[in-house]
Amino acid sequence: MDDSNLKNIVVLGGGTAGWMTASLLQKQWQHLGIKITVVESPDIGIIGVGEGSTPLLKVFFDSLEISESEWMPECNATYKNGISFNNWSTVSGYESYFHPFPCSLDFATFGLLYKYAALRRKGLDVLAHPNRFSLMAGLTEKKLAPIPSENFPFHFQYGYHFDSVLIGNFLRRRAKEIGVEHIEATVQDVEQNSNGDIKSLKLNNNQTLSGDFFIDCSGFASVLLQKTLKVPFLNFAENLFNDSAIAMPTEIEPNIPSETVSTALTNGWAWKIPLTNRFGNGYVYSSKYCSPDEAETELRAHLGVLDSDIEARHLKMKVGRAEESWRNNCVAVGLSQGFIEPLEATALQFVYATVDEFAKAFEQGEFTPQYRQEFNNRMNKNFEGIRDYIVLHYKTNSRSDSQYWIDNRENQNLSNNLKEMLNCWYGVEDIEAALTRLDIGTYYSQRSWACLLAGVGTFPREENLISADLENAQSLQDDLKYVDNFIEGCSLNFEPHENMLTSKTP
Ligand SMILES: Cc1cc2nc3c(=O)[nH]c(=O)nc-3n(C[C@H](O)[C@H](O)[C@H](O)COP(=O)(O)OP(=O)(O)OC[C@H]3O[C@@H](n4cnc5c(N)ncnc54)[C@H](O)[C@@H]3O)c2cc1C
Repeated sequence: MDDSNLKNIVVLGGGTAGWMTASLLQKQWQHLGIKITVVESPDIGIIGVGEGSTPLLKVFFDSLEISESEWMPECNATYKNGISFNNWSTVSGYESYFHPFPCSLDFATFGLLYKYAALRRKGLDVLAHPNRFSLMAGLTEKKLAPIPSENFPFHFQYGYHFDSVLIGNFLRRRAKEIGVEHIEATVQDVEQNSNGDIKSLKLNNNQTLSGDFFIDCSGFASVLLQKTLKVPFLNFAENLFNDSAIAMPTEIEPNIPSETVSTALTNGWAWKIPLTNRFGNGYVYSSKYCSPDEAETELRAHLGVLDSDIEARHLKMKVGRAEESWRNNCVAVGLSQGFIEPLEATALQFVYATVDEFAKAFEQGEFTPQYRQEFNNRMNKNFEGIRDYIVLHYKTNSRSDSQYWIDNRENQNLSNNLKEMLNCWYGVEDIEAALTRLDIGTYYSQRSWACLLAGVGTFPREENLISADLENAQSLQDDLKYVDNFIEGCSLNFEPHENMLTSKTP
C-alpha cells in the first residue's frame, strides 16, 4: 500500500503491546489526522505477566512525555539496575554475578575487567569477577537507586519493575486521553481484499471495523499475522528449551532491592521482581523435563511458601518468531510477532523498537516491498541477536544436577554467530572486534558478553591455572584498590532505592 493512504490504523489487542503501540503512534501522528483505534476482547484478556524492563521503557515514557512521578506510583513500579544470576554456575567464586545496565562511567572500570579476564582466559590465576569492576553492581549491592544527584553529571541507564496489569490500565487511560479510540469486542472474522490485504474485522457486537493498516497485538494468538495472513512461525525450541511458566506473588521486604534476581532451579530458572507492594515471582521451565505440579512444588519450596495457599498461575509460552513481522498491510507487535523467553526481560524493548521502525518507515514514505523486506530483515536480526545472548546463559551453565542443565550445556544447535563468539572467548581474542565483525554489538555489547562469560567463570579449570607473576599480582592489587575506592566514592552520590520510590501502596 501507499503510505499517503494511511488514515485509519486499527490495533488489534489491548495488552501492553497494543497500548504502547497506540500511544506511540497517536503521540507522533495526531497532527496528521490519522485515526488510531484499539480493539480488545473483554473475554480473552491479557497475558498479565512481564514485570521487568530494559532501559528502552524509559525511552518510551520519555517520548510520551510521561514523567516517572506520574506512572511509577500508579503501577507500583521500582527501579531496576540490572539482573543478578544466581546458581547458573558451580565454579567456585563464580556462582553468582550481576548483569548491569550501562552507565557513562563504565569506561573507568570495565577496561580492567577485560584485562584480567583475558589474563585468566590465558590461564593466570587472577580475579576476574565482573561484580568487582561494576559501579552498577556496587550500587545494587547497597540497594541504591540508579539516579545520581544533580552534582554528579554522569548518565546512568536503568529499567523498571512494574505491575503488568496496572501498566496496561495506565497506558489505556493515557492513550484514550490523547485521542485513541477504544472498542471492547472480540474479532470473529477477518475480511481480506483480493490482494491479500486485510480489509476489515468482524466483531461480535455486529460491528465491521475497516482500516488502511492493521497492527496485530493479539498476543500468542496472532490473529492477523499468523492466523489470517498465514505467516509461518519459526520455533526456537531447539535453541531454547523452556515452554512453560508459573507466576506467584510473595510479600515484599523492607529496603526494596533495585534488581531482578534470576535463580537457576532444577529444570529452568526462577525470577524475583520487586514491586512497591509485593515480589512478583515465577519459574520458567521446560515441560519436557518436569510436570507443572513438580515445577510448582519446586517454586514453592524455593520461595519458602510450600504450605501457603498463594495461588499459582500456570502459563504456556510460544518461543520463537514469525518469519516476517510485516506482511501486506499488517505489522505484528508484541507476542504475536514473537517471544524470546523472559530471561533478559526484552519483550517490551521489542515492542518499542518495532513501532519505532514502523513509524520511521511511514515518515520516510517508504511503504514499498523493498522497505518491508528490509524492515523484516532488521526485526529478524534483532530477534536472533538477542536470542543468541540468551542461549549463551544456558550453554555456559556448569550445573550437573539434572538432565535439563546437562542437555543445555551439550546442545550443539547454536547459530554461527554464537559459535564464533564462543571461539573468540576461548581463543582469547578481542570480544569487541568480534562483535564489530559480526555486526551484533548493538544487541549486547562487550560489557554484557564479558559479564556473562566471566561471571559464570568460563575460564580454564582452577587446578590448571598458574599463579600470577609478581608484576601481574601487584598490578591487580593496585587496580582493585582503585576500583573499590572509585565505586565507594561514586556511591556517595546515590540515594537508597527505597527513598526514590515516590509512593508505596500498603
Ligand atoms: C512468563 C512470562 C514472563 C514475561 N516476562 C517479561 C518481562 O519480564 N519483561 C518483558 O518485557 N516481557 C515479559 N514477558 C512478555 C510480556 O508479558 C508481553 O510481551 C507483554 O505483556 C505484551 O503482551 P501482548 O500485549 O503482546 O499480548 P497480551 O497481553 O496477551 O494481549 C493480547 C490482547 O489481544 C486481545 N485479543 C486476542 N485475540 C483477540 C480477538 N480475537 N479479538 C479481540 N481481541 C483479541 C486480548 O483481549 C488482549 O487484549 C513475559 C512473558 C511471559 C509469558
